[in-house]
Amino acid sequence: EEQPIEVVIDELTKEESEPILKDSEKMEFKAETKKLLDIVAKSIYTDKEVFLRELLSNCSDALEKQRFKQVSGSSQGGNDLYINITTNSKDRELVLFDSGIGMSREEIMDNLGTIAKSGSQAFLKEMKDKDVSLNDSIIGQFGVGFYSTFIVSDSVEVYSKAEGHNGVRWVSDGSGEYEISNADNLGFERGTRIVLKLRQDCREFSTENELEKIIKKFSQFISYPIKLNGQML
Ligand code: ADP
Ligand code: MG
Repeated sequence: EEQPIEVVIDELTKEESEPILKDSEKMEFKAETKKLLDIVAKSIYTDKEVFLRELLSNCSDALEKQRFKQVSGSSQGGNDLYINITTNSKDRELVLFDSGIGMSREEIMDNLGTIAKSGSQAFLKEMKDKDVSLNDSIIGQFGVGFYSTFIVSDSVEVYSKAEGHNGVRWVSDGSGEYEISNADNLGFERGTRIVLKLRQDCREFSTENELEKIIKKFSQFISYPIKLNGQML
């Protein structure tokens, strides 16, 4: 029986880049991070789209770091610097890839397991003596960086590869812990791919039209090419 050609191609690509995981470890978030994630998860934050601002700004930072590495001659890798965003509304999936500097296993644990970084520290400090109902405005004011993905996601996967390091996969549902593994066969040589499994009530972010508007809004100051489902924005 004949199948539509797209389906066949889709399955092939999927199979080709199916990561191979090794040395998986379950890790607990630091107490502070848990507290932050708890607030984020419970928040009825209305301005949900800010997670895209945060992710795009992380992509841009990573690309900028890689560009600097190349200019200073300390990178051996490819020079192509870009952001590639794909959606799959059927599976409520949103995927962001950047060919930036990437992260090693250690770096990913440090950067995504603790909240030493970003506005998050300031956020928690501010939260301490405030009424919980003020969460929303405070999230908006400080931004909670990467953790804002949990405003819209049931689970978040991060695949990353830095030059001279093993590929790595990080996954969490934003509750107490995350899992980290070495990952081969990522389908890219360097960079970071973030896969959001969107919450049912946030599925609009896997719709191409909706997404295009939001990306355009937040990418004005990003000086690297951005593709959305194969189309240059
Ligand atoms: P901030 O960007 O303010 O440092 P975030 O919570 O947004 O805080 O991100 C935490 C850290 O995770 C970043 O500083 C960076 O080291 C790392 N990171 C996040 N996204 C990426 C990415 N796409 N590529 C490489 N590193 C990343
Ligand atoms: Mg950031």
